[in-house]
Amino acid sequence: MNSEYVDVDTKFIDEIIKHGGKDVKKCMQCAECSVVCPLSPDNNPFPRKEMIWAQWGLKDTLLKDPDIWLCHNCADCSKDCPRNAKPGSVLNAVREIAIEENSWPRFVAKGFGEKKYLPLFILFPVLFIALLIYGLGLKMPADGTIYFSNFIPYIYIDVIGTTIGVIIALIALFSLWRFWKSLTVTQKNKMNFFSALILVLKDIIAHSWFKKCETNHIRYYAHLFTFYGFIFLLVATATAAFEIHFLGVQHSLIGGPANIIGNVGAVVILTGIIIVIYNHVSNKVPKENTYFDWLFIFLLFFTAITGVTMEILRLDGSVFAYWTYLVHLTLIFMLIAYAPYSKFAHLIYRSIAMVYTRSIGRVPAI
Ligand code: SF4
Ligand code: SF4
Repeated sequence: MNSEYVDVDTKFIDEIIKHGGKDVKKCMQCAECSVVCPLSPDNNPFPRKEMIWAQWGLKDTLLKDPDIWLCHNCADCSKDCPRNAKPGSVLNAVREIAIEENSWPRFVAKGFGEKKYLPLFILFPVLFIALLIYGLGLKMPADGTIYFSNFIPYIYIDVIGTTIGVIIALIALFSLWRFWKSLTVTQKNKMNFFSALILVLKDIIAHSWFKKCETNHIRYYAHLFTFYGFIFLLVATATAAFEIHFLGVQHSLIGGPANIIGNVGAVVILTGIIIVIYNHVSNKVPKENTYFDWLFIFLLFFTAITGVTMEILRLDGSVFAYWTYLVHLTLIFMLIAYAPYSKFAHLIYRSIAMVYTRSIGRVPAI
């Protein structure tokens, strides 16, 4: 940017509006939002400065700004804005655009953020799984005790799942590396990466930043339950893999450790998602709910629901358990394969930005 002129990028302003930041033009720069924000540092606070950058269409400045990630969309600022603007939603829109811009390949990220391409993003895993079943000559059992490995042997799940996971992890790492480079371009670090990472992990474990929000405090519980439910489900998956590969268990056991941990995880994550949905539909909090948010909520919700349904049908001895298993696998595929472009990415980008801001001593004023 030239020091005397501002090149207004009107396309970027349109993009912000498209991503839910429709109030960007309402701001009159009173700075009330920066005063009330519970997460803003004293020095050079947000979100007033981001609001003016957004009005000016300063895309590069905003995308490199770590402060957009410190905002947890609590809406404390929206409640007090004299123009009824929602700065948290504007920053959320900028974050969605930042994920698109840093992701690789970028066209996948852009497509994933658009409702009209959703059928394609569903069709891909459906065709992938259908072709695998056909190609490997797998047959869905028509009767007998329900064991999912009688339909798709664990070895296929392991090999294919690990391959997809490694590819996606490499793509995500490349995108995050680009993001990290864009953040660190201007400032020198005061603390080394690992010390900052430990502090951020403590913040995440306690959800201490969400706790500071007042207007949208219910979000603290929504995130807490969803986060820990997800951790439980990861532990359940690892335990099931241990049972099968190291203890020689042929079929996942009802009532076994993996099953119990998985059931607890399902209850906890569903509780979190239900609070999230309630918070979104109750309209008690002045914030925009975007397609990007809803897509992730529904993916998590239906993954958990199909997981529970599979177990009930299995106990009942119904062969519909196998069909539910296929839907469950499709949803898991979508969660993993599209993670670098979804709200999952949002969580990782935010964590990385928090490591960076910790490393330069940029933390909330209170
Ligand atoms: S409180 Fe509202 S009008 Fe004032 S600077 Fe913030 S967004 Fe703009
Ligand atoms: S939404 Fe909350 S965290 Fe974000 S800028 Fe407003 S007050 Fe701060």
